[in-house]
Amino acid sequence: MKYSELVGLYGQLDSTTKRLEKTYYLSEFLKKTAADDIEPVILLVQGRVFPSYDERELGVANQLVVKAINVASGIASAAVEKEWAKTGDLGKVAEQLIKGKRQATLTAAELTVKKVFENLRKLTELTGQGSVDRKMQLIAELLSSAKGTEARYIARTILGQLRIGTGAGILRDAIAWAYFPKAVEKVFVKCGSCHKTVPPADSCAECGKELGKEAKAAAAEIEAARGEYNKILDKIQTAYDLTNDFGVVARKAKTEGARGLGTVEIRVGTPIKVMLALKVDTVEEAFETVGRPAQCEYKYDGFRLECHRRGDRIWLYTRRLENVTNQFPDVVEYLKKHVKADSYILDAEAVGYDPKTKKYVPFQNISQRIKRKYDIEKTIEELPVEVNVFDILCYEGKNVVGQPFRKRREIIERMVKDAERKIVVSKAIITDKEAEVEKFFKEAKAAGTEGLMLKKLDAPYQPGARVGYMLKFKKVMENLDLAIVAAEWGEGKRAKWLSSYYLACRDHGHDKLLEIGKVSTGLKEKREEGLSFDEVTEMLRPLITEEHGRLVRVNPKVILEVAYEEIQKSPTYESGYALRFPRVIRNRSDEKGIGDINTIKDVERLYRQQKKVKG
Ligand code: AMP
Repeated sequence: MKYSELVGLYGQLDSTTKRLEKTYYLSEFLKKTAADDIEPVILLVQGRVFPSYDERELGVANQLVVKAINVASGIASAAVEKEWAKTGDLGKVAEQLIKGKRQATLTAAELTVKKVFENLRKLTELTGQGSVDRKMQLIAELLSSAKGTEARYIARTILGQLRIGTGAGILRDAIAWAYFPKAVEKVFVKCGSCHKTVPPADSCAECGKELGKEAKAAAAEIEAARGEYNKILDKIQTAYDLTNDFGVVARKAKTEGARGLGTVEIRVGTPIKVMLALKVDTVEEAFETVGRPAQCEYKYDGFRLECHRRGDRIWLYTRRLENVTNQFPDVVEYLKKHVKADSYILDAEAVGYDPKTKKYVPFQNISQRIKRKYDIEKTIEELPVEVNVFDILCYEGKNVVGQPFRKRREIIERMVKDAERKIVVSKAIITDKEAEVEKFFKEAKAAGTEGLMLKKLDAPYQPGARVGYMLKFKKVMENLDLAIVAAEWGEGKRAKWLSSYYLACRDHGHDKLLEIGKVSTGLKEKREEGLSFDEVTEMLRPLITEEHGRLVRVNPKVILEVAYEEIQKSPTYESGYALRFPRVIRNRSDEKGIGDINTIKDVERLYRQQKKVKG
């Protein structure tokens, strides 16, 4: 394909800001693009020569392009700079000055897309002595052969200034329009003037005339045909989520159709969009979403790191799919040493820790490591990270995203040989009990993490999706130590126990106790299972001071640690507050006396804190 054809497309894309028109131009162009040219075309339309996740950069400064224009046009660099100062656009300068000398080199070979693409890619391979000069020559070679507006777009591409507005949405739609005409036909209209099939809009993308009544009337039917069309768009999007490369997706679509798109595979080395988490406010809500039992894991306050390995090669990507392999030679070494497999894609969180105390530090403390390009060895010592592996997408060449999470976890537990403060499998428990989640949450917080992630055991891994297979739970509420001031005898099979307890906190500065709620969950029916109704009843019985039917008042000697989801204002209790979903965590009567329980001041503070977090 001639480069001039692609430049024609650039012109069309540049001429409109309308999304549908851009999509149409691009799709028409893709229809006539040969399979071998598709990947270069798709990349060049985005103004790049490597997919966005590839760390290779052209690394060409303005001055080098000035020099290349000078060599290609024979016009002195100073004059080139003068023109540049006038227009502020080196692309335009290249175009004007190269045009001026065209007559002299009419014999120059016509540029092809392939030639431009190859020369630009070569720019990234040149390093070391003399490389600047060789880069300049590669650019000058292209500019010397450029005709008309070609020089403008070559210069802009090299400088990363090709801004023709073809985002991911347009690329995806254009691939659908180009390669799935049947599904798309119905969402197009026929222009009354030029009779071409064009997207529904006010004016025709081909001839610019108003589309006319007939075409507009068809728009209603178009809505009806959208279902099929959307299915195709979804297929393209999924293929893109797996490859992050529209070039690969477009080639598959052209050569193998919808079935081909379905076979697009994750590739080790190519980053893939990670699965995202939903937020929950309560443990109940979490269980409702992921089912029981669920896996709870520490939520490390670091940054997501996708770790790829094939043989000796390792790639590390951030959540935004930036290649950060060079910034983390320490992680590369941990993977090589402590992970027993030749080929994989792991999903992990890298968390920083204090090199002296070995305690985790918040993300802000280590964020600079991600961008750091120099003094890397020093930063490794000052800001070390521990990699916490929590999922796997590919194992020994096999895609495992479709396998249930429980199975994937088994694989990582087998392959990662835990090395504390280097690389470990994320800390986890499997449970179906709220109290255990609470306990683990406390442990997680004490370890310096943000809270917990709760995961659905039988869920697949859904790249790029926020589907509720993993939830984040970062509750900020502290448990309260409260005294039992009254209790009620149970009913039915609980009739032999005092089974619900009125709780109170201390008034500030006084001995007075203020009721704040009633709790009956968190206790067990059998002693072997933990703190039981039976035990609490035994503790309370000698403390009873009054009896009113089923209600007894007691001396406030039994202290319980209680978790809850929220503190609410409430007229029901003397304290003016009530606990939502209170749950007994444990008996603290042996360690704490009435003087040690939480005060109304604590409750007020927590109430305010929770509002701040929510707001
Ligand atoms: P957020 O960034 O607040 O949406 O929380 C989700 C993020 O928590 C994920 O994208 C990970 O970077 C991070 N994370 C920390 N620990 C884990 C874990 N054990 N499992 C999954 N994600 C985790």
